[in-house]
Amino acid sequence: MLESFAALDEAQLEAKLQHAADVFRNYRRSSFVERAAMMSRVAEILESEKKALARLMTLEMGKPISGAVAEAEKCAWVCRYYAENAEQHLSDEVAETNAAKSYVSYQPLGVILAVMPWNFPFWQVFRFAAPALMAGNVGLLKHASNVPRCALAIEDIFRRAGFPDGAFQTLLIGADAVQRVLEDARVAAATLTGSEPAGRSVASIAGKQIKKTVLELGGSDPFIVMPSAHLDEAVATAVKARTINNGQSCIAAKRFIVHAQIYDEFEKGFVAAMKALRVGDPLDESTDIGPLATGQILKDLEEQVQVSVAAGAKILTGGHRFKAEADLASGNFYEPTVLVDIPKDSPAYRDEIFGPVASLFRVANIDEAIEVANATAFGLGAAAWTNDEAEQDRFIKELEAGAVFINGMVASDPRLPFGGVKNSGYGRELGAFGIREFVNVKTVWVK
Ligand code: NAP
Repeated sequence: MLESFAALDEAQLEAKLQHAADVFRNYRRSSFVERAAMMSRVAEILESEKKALARLMTLEMGKPISGAVAEAEKCAWVCRYYAENAEQHLSDEVAETNAAKSYVSYQPLGVILAVMPWNFPFWQVFRFAAPALMAGNVGLLKHASNVPRCALAIEDIFRRAGFPDGAFQTLLIGADAVQRVLEDARVAAATLTGSEPAGRSVASIAGKQIKKTVLELGGSDPFIVMPSAHLDEAVATAVKARTINNGQSCIAAKRFIVHAQIYDEFEKGFVAAMKALRVGDPLDESTDIGPLATGQILKDLEEQVQVSVAAGAKILTGGHRFKAEADLASGNFYEPTVLVDIPKDSPAYRDEIFGPVASLFRVANIDEAIEVANATAFGLGAAAWTNDEAEQDRFIKELEAGAVFINGMVASDPRLPFGGVKNSGYGRELGAFGIREFVNVKTVWVK
C-alpha cells in the first residue's frame, strides 16, 4: 500500500454537498466561452504533466506506463473536444409550432454524482466531467477506493485550471456511503461506471429517489473473425484488444469467435503472440502486461479459470499466477492465458473475465458466429473482421451491442457515443449524446 486516507465524516460530507449546491447556483450562469477557456486549461495541464500523472496511475493500479501516458493525453483530447463542441451540441433547437417562437433549450441539472472505477482512473472521470461541467453542472466524484491519489489529483487539476472551487469535488468515501449521497436532495443525478452489482445498487437507490442515472457496466465483448479477414492484422489486433490495460477493460475483446475455415491458423498465431508478451514492471516502457490492480482481482481471475477448466475448458497457454520462484510472484501477475473447448455454463463462457485470459470459439458459419456472440447477458462492444459487405451488414444489424467495430478493435472516442445494452447498462457517454444525458431538455413556447 502506498498511502491511506481517512474517509470523510458526516460533517465534512455535508459541507461538500452544500458547497456543491452553492457553487452550482452561480456556475450555471457562466457562458460556454468561459467554461471552454477553463476546460482548455485543464487539457493543457493534463498534457504538460502527463508523465507525472501517468506515474501516479501506474503506481496506484499497475497499468503499463505507456498506456498511462496515452490515457492522460486522451483526457486532454476529451476536454478539448467538449470545450470546442459543447455549445453546438447544446444549442437551442427550433421547432415550428403555432407559437410565435418554440424551441428546445438544454439546461444543466445541478450536482451530478459520479461513481467511478479504478481501471482507467483518469479517463473514466474526465469523460464524465468534461461534458458535465461544460453543460453547466457541477460534479462530485466518488472514485474507486484503490485510487485515492488519482482522485485528489483530478480535483486539483480542475481547481488549478480556474474552475470555481467546488465545481468539481472529490469525496473520499467508501461504497457504503454512496446511498447517503444519492439520497441527498441536493444531488440531481448520478453516473456509475463499474460492475453489474454496483450498477444495480445505485440504479435502485436512484430509482426510488426518481433521479436519472447513466450506467456503464461490464462487458464480454465478442471479436469475430471470418475467412475474408486480413488474418495477420486480425491476430495482432485481437491480442492487443484482449490484453490492453492488463486485460482489465470493459471493452476488451474477451471472446474470440473464429470461422472454422481459418480457425487453426488464427489459434496458432494468437497463442504464439500471447506467449510472446512481456509481463513485468509496469513502469518499464517495454512491458506489455503489468500486475492486476489488486490481490482480490487476481484471486477472482484464478478462480474463474479454475472453475472453467474443471467444467471442461482446456488451457493452450498460461492458466496460472506466476510461480513462487519467479520474479513476478510477489505482485498480482497472471500469465497471458488462452482457453478453448469452453462449456456453455462455465465462467469463461458466461461471465466477464477481467485479466489477460482469452476464450476461443470455433464456429461453422456466420449464423453460429452471431449466436455465440449474442449468448451473453452483456452488450457493450463487438468487433467483427470480414471484408464481405453482406457479412458486415449482418454484424452491424444483428450483434447485440452498444458499438460494432468492423475490422478494428472497440475503442472509445470523444466524437462517438459510448455505452451498452442489456446488462452492460444504459445511457451514453461522449459525443453529443453524452453531453445531453445530464441536462434538462426544456421545451420553450412563447406566444
Ligand atoms: P466496482 O467494484 O463496481 O467499483 C466501481 C465503483 O463503484 C467504485 O467506486 C466502487 O467503490 C463503487 N461501488 C462498488 N459497489 C458499490 C455499491 N454497491 N454501491 C455504490 N458504489 C459501489 O467495479 P470495479 O471492479 O472497480 O471496476 C471494474 C468493472 O467496471 C468491470 O465490470 C468493468 O467492465 C466495468 N467498467 C465499465 C466501463 C464502461 O464504460 N462500461 C468502463 C470501465 C469499467 P469502492 O472502490 O469503494 O468499492
